[in-house]
Amino acid sequence: MTQRTFSIIKPDATKRNLQGAILKMIQDAGLRIVAMKMIRMTKEQAEGFYAVHSDKPFFGSLTDFMCSGPVVVSVLEGENAVSSYRQAMGATNPANADEGTIRKSFALDIEKNSVHGSDAPETAAVEIAYFFNQLEIVG
Ligand code: GDP
Repeated sequence: MTQRTFSIIKPDATKRNLQGAILKMIQDAGLRIVAMKMIRMTKEQAEGFYAVHSDKPFFGSLTDFMCSGPVVVSVLEGENAVSSYRQAMGATNPANADEGTIRKSFALDIEKNSVHGSDAPETAAVEIAYFFNQLEIVG
């Protein structure tokens, strides 16, 4: 089933100039980039994006981190895009991530873990609409 998912290349990765390497791994996983831009989130945008985690002890640190530098937001399309991107990303904590995954290759720790990917098609639709309008999805 062709599906869309939402991706963020996080500030720890853009800071280390890893955008190209990560996008290559995304494409090698069979995903097509149908929209993409580089932005710098405000604290408010980061808090809105991660609102589901607002009761977590790491919420302040996570939202500070997410607006600490530029990010690359994109919409990815492919067969079972949500789960295939989650698989390509690897576990949240890089210590638990499989070899060959993006997080195993690049993440610094459980917070600075280089990438975000939606966890379900419904979340993907909400997250895509948070950053892109229909005219920006061109692929
Ligand atoms: P994901 O779907 O794999 O990104 O993981 P979650 O939805 O559980 O968490 C969202 C993001 O919050 C993660 O990608 C991390 O950047 C961060 N995060 C998750 N767990 C922790 C934690 O225990 N401590 C800190 N500092 N950050 C965390």
